[in-house]
Amino acid sequence: MIHFNRPPKVGNEFDYIQKAIASDKLCGDGPFSKKCESWIESNFKTKKALLTPSCTAALELAAILVDIQKGDEVIMPSYTFVSTANAFVLRGAKIVFVDIRPDTLNINESLIEKAITKKTKAIVPVHYAGVSCDMEKIMDIANQHNIWVIEDAAQGVMSTYKGKALGTIGHIGCFSFHETKNYSSGGEGGAILINDSDLISRAEIIREKGTNRSQFLNGQVDKYTWQDVGSSFLPSELQAAYLLAQLDSAEEINSFRLDVWNKYFNSLSKFLNKSFLPTIPEDLEHNAHMFYFLLKSNTQRDEFISYMKEHKIMTPFHYVPLHSSPAGANFGSFCGEDLFTTSISSRLVRLPLYYGISDSDLKRVCGCIESYFCK
Ligand SMILES: *Cc1c(COP(=O)(O)O)cnc(C)c1O
Repeated sequence: MIHFNRPPKVGNEFDYIQKAIASDKLCGDGPFSKKCESWIESNFKTKKALLTPSCTAALELAAILVDIQKGDEVIMPSYTFVSTANAFVLRGAKIVFVDIRPDTLNINESLIEKAITKKTKAIVPVHYAGVSCDMEKIMDIANQHNIWVIEDAAQGVMSTYKGKALGTIGHIGCFSFHETKNYSSGGEGGAILINDSDLISRAEIIREKGTNRSQFLNGQVDKYTWQDVGSSFLPSELQAAYLLAQLDSAEEINSFRLDVWNKYFNSLSKFLNKSFLPTIPEDLEHNAHMFYFLLKSNTQRDEFISYMKEHKIMTPFHYVPLHSSPAGANFGSFCGEDLFTTSISSRLVRLPLYYGISDSDLKRVCGCIESYFCK
């Protein structure tokens, strides 16, 4: 069986976890957490990085941080994971879904302005497959209308847009270190990147159960008290230790994935038209988070998945557009015409891509796809 994903493993994880255990300091914000956060801050150039238990939690923290209130509107694509929307629905927001671009499957930036009303509080661009949204256009619109931008960069760790790391361009960025993403902190994990320095101290308070404990630990105050609403948004040191091992090997993982991605692209280009293959716009570098392609129809897509499964290769689809799911219809609505979201999502498949996938498995996947199309 060729699996769709295997959690990345670089080899040092166990050693780091043993060190964390030996240090007798296992709760959040210990030395391993601080090292991961400094790594993110210096490599990606953000004012403040804070580890979180997941990207879902980072998005929830972001929604509290920008003060989303009942009745506020938040703009995002419908073609995304549920957490992008849930975080804001939890605070009482109404979700306004905007169609995607047919080339990158990212939110169509030219449709955002039409979706803005007096109630619009935030835009949440999702960098699908680690390929950046048009952040210049999105930041221009947001600044003109005084709206927050929270990047869902769950899939975008190590990608850039015009030389800037994804997650560092909006006011806030959210990363995922789930085992299905490029870097993992032992199964579940994430980070929030605070790019607007005015938001940093409140972010630290919300993340520490609404207390100013982090100011206390830094010696800025002599006792800590309840300051604001908050929750527990800290992962344990065991997770941070696992993550640090992966970050140490970030370049190696990234180039391995890009190599696999390019092999798929070159192999499929021989028999698939460009419009069925992913597009990577100029001015950005992607991180090969995902290799997807399109089939002619939903029927052909399902037939392809069954064919690959018969050959013991897992090629799952995703996402069911949020606006057509029961909760999505309840908590949000689609603005404008759904030209691409539903049709493209019904034609898409993803190929096995993970750090360490063998050359022989890759050849088998490519051979099997070729035999499907050329039979
Ligand atoms: C994976 C993912 C999430 C959620 O990440 P978790 O770390 O599992 O909470 C959110 N948004 C997008 C676009 C994702 O791909």
